[in-house]
Amino acid sequence: MIQEIHPHRFNNKYLPERKITAADFVLFYQGKTILLKNAGNGYELPRKSDFTDFPETPEPVFLFTLDEAPCFLLQNDPGACNAGLVFVELGFFRTTRQPEIAWVSLAGRQLANWYAQRRFCGTCGEWTIHKSDERALLCPKCAQVFYPVIAPAVIVAIRCNDKILLARGSEAPGGWYSLLAGYVDAGESLEEALVREVKEEVGIAIHNIRYYGSQPWPPSGSIMIGFTAEADENQPLEVDHQEIAEAAWFRRGNLPRYPPALSIAGEMIEKFEQGILEYA
Ligand SMILES: [Zn+2]
Repeated sequence: MIQEIHPHRFNNKYLPERKITAADFVLFYQGKTILLKNAGNGYELPRKSDFTDFPETPEPVFLFTLDEAPCFLLQNDPGACNAGLVFVELGFFRTTRQPEIAWVSLAGRQLANWYAQRRFCGTCGEWTIHKSDERALLCPKCAQVFYPVIAPAVIVAIRCNDKILLARGSEAPGGWYSLLAGYVDAGESLEEALVREVKEEVGIAIHNIRYYGSQPWPPSGSIMIGFTAEADENQPLEVDHQEIAEAAWFRRGNLPRYPPALSIAGEMIEKFEQGILEYA
């Protein structure tokens, strides 16, 4: 999955006291692109020392570490850069052979968006400041604390014997068929959200819901919580035709095109195809 970058190591521990040094990595985003450094056939994350005129204010924000090297978010346009730095579309994560660069780029982008959206207190409108002891923003006027926003979404592999229920989303890239998924609403358990989403999207009842695993998915600011479930294939499918264009049961060995194993959906479908999709 996308967050699995072995042998590289990603550490999300927040180090508020850490100040940027010349060798630290710098993440700078512009629209849907990130500034990277050309390196052979791939990229490297730029270091502070790669910039000719590094903007020191506002102070770069510590994000996380990659292979023990701190990564900082640069919020001001660095302007003139050293040769070799290029803006790369974030969609490169789908095809790159450098999963560690892709993962750091996406995880950083989620935090960059949150910091940008939380510059002001939503209660009183004051500028927020960084909380000194954890990854959070604080309103100095009304003391409200804001944490990174993560949207929980449930995703389910529904099976009936050697068949799996797959659906093609109205806006699915490449016409892929995938698992049913949906956001958890306020006041709902994960299991209730799952039952509701499946009923809404394809009109069937599911049972024997079992936890599979989870995956952070920064492109949509989500945490995907995966389940397996069973359903009777004789139930009529009533596709909602809003989020879902088509849904059908597919037999193992005869699956349509599905997403790569970068996503938890792709991984679960691949395991079903191999006959090794088990309960957690
Ligand atoms: Zn406030």
